[in-house]
Amino acid sequence: MQKVDVIIIGAGAAGLMCAISAGSRGRSVVVMDHANKVGKKILMSGGGRCNFTNYYAEPANYLSKNEHFCKSAMSRYTQWDFIGMVEKHGIPYHEKKLGQLFCDNKAKDIVNMLLEECSEVDADVRTHCSVEQIKKQDEGFLLITSQGKWQCQSLVIATGGLSIPTMGATGFGYDIARQFGLKVLDTTAGLVPFTLTPHLLEQFEGLSGTSADSIVSCNGQSFRENILWTHRGLSGPAILQISSYWRPGDSVGINLFPDIDLLEHLKERQQSNPKSHLNGVLSETLTKKLADRLCELWFVDFYKKPLAELSNEQMAAVAEQCQSWQLKPTGTEGYRTAEVTLGGIDTDEVSSKTFEAKKVQDLYFIGEVLDVTGHLGGYNFQWAWASGHACGQYV
Ligand code: FAD
Repeated sequence: MQKVDVIIIGAGAAGLMCAISAGSRGRSVVVMDHANKVGKKILMSGGGRCNFTNYYAEPANYLSKNEHFCKSAMSRYTQWDFIGMVEKHGIPYHEKKLGQLFCDNKAKDIVNMLLEECSEVDADVRTHCSVEQIKKQDEGFLLITSQGKWQCQSLVIATGGLSIPTMGATGFGYDIARQFGLKVLDTTAGLVPFTLTPHLLEQFEGLSGTSADSIVSCNGQSFRENILWTHRGLSGPAILQISSYWRPGDSVGINLFPDIDLLEHLKERQQSNPKSHLNGVLSETLTKKLADRLCELWFVDFYKKPLAELSNEQMAAVAEQCQSWQLKPTGTEGYRTAEVTLGGIDTDEVSSKTFEAKKVQDLYFIGEVLDVTGHLGGYNFQWAWASGHACGQYV
């Protein structure tokens, strides 16, 4: 039997940060992960460059049943704290857009940094370690693992959500929560592409790879970024963002001309260039391929006429369709490609200060396993760093 102060299950973003935070207080820490490598999601994130935080991270960027829950941890470990660690390790980075910070080189720089910090505080990080059983004892916990029996005073669950099961994601954290009588809210895939009906896919055939700067809205939320046609449906940052607010059966509103009043613009062009055609005017903003296709699909009755021959009603119909396009997805691509899991362990069950379960002394939950989900853009890692750091101060 081996004894330590703290066992953390899950060597991802939150688990490694928690190990650093607890280890720096002199606690003996073991991090156990069943995968063959630590931080697999960090390695694959941000297209291999890891969008590790965001200059503008704040509580408004998170979805949770309790919108206040994330505030305390986020104020105690901010994006500036994490940037400080990145700079201390001399890791080159840049802002790509909208405050999103990426490594100049590889996401591996972030994993190496976390492992170096773990090693500096003597935290023992183990891969290939499966936890078979967890038993509560009078003080702390007994764990039966593939690497023997362990006893610890504090047990931290940092096993993440369900997205990308091929990367080692499991429902382990939810199972442990249920084992100890904690409420787990329904989970769904977030930051995920939409799938479309076969009819719509046929209509959009050949547009795969086309994108358009748009405002996408659903359930009172709007995001302005690109949408991207794919061979399975619609993706791109604006679609991923709105997917976290979409529920089955909902329609999504899409404005393909976010910078102009399209009706006014068409009227102006009708005056200034009466011989021009609708697809030509639309392709001043959209790609020619997209403008041509949308005209064939939506305005087949009149788009071949010169603008001079279009009625006000026809131009109003064009503006309405292009600026308030209502699209009804059939679903999402699910956990297979989702970046995050919405829902999870009910934050009412956990202290927002320490992350200890209110009903179970010495048991802690951090990171994505909790019902806190960030927008796209480095916010999910910032939550992992902030919750991991806060918890590490108390275990
Ligand atoms: P994870 O990082 O998922 O770590 C959980 C760990 O627990 C894993 O190492 C896993 O192997 C381990 N584990 C699971 N089950 C068990 C078990 N039964 N026993 C032992 N160990 C177990 N967020 C951003 O902010 N910026 C990005 O650029 C970004 N890009 C992403 C790209 C992709 C493709 C994906 C899928 C996600 C991306 N995210 C990004 C989201 C981000 O990766 C997660 O929100 C974040 O990793 C959550 O951290 P975590 O520590 O809670 O969980």
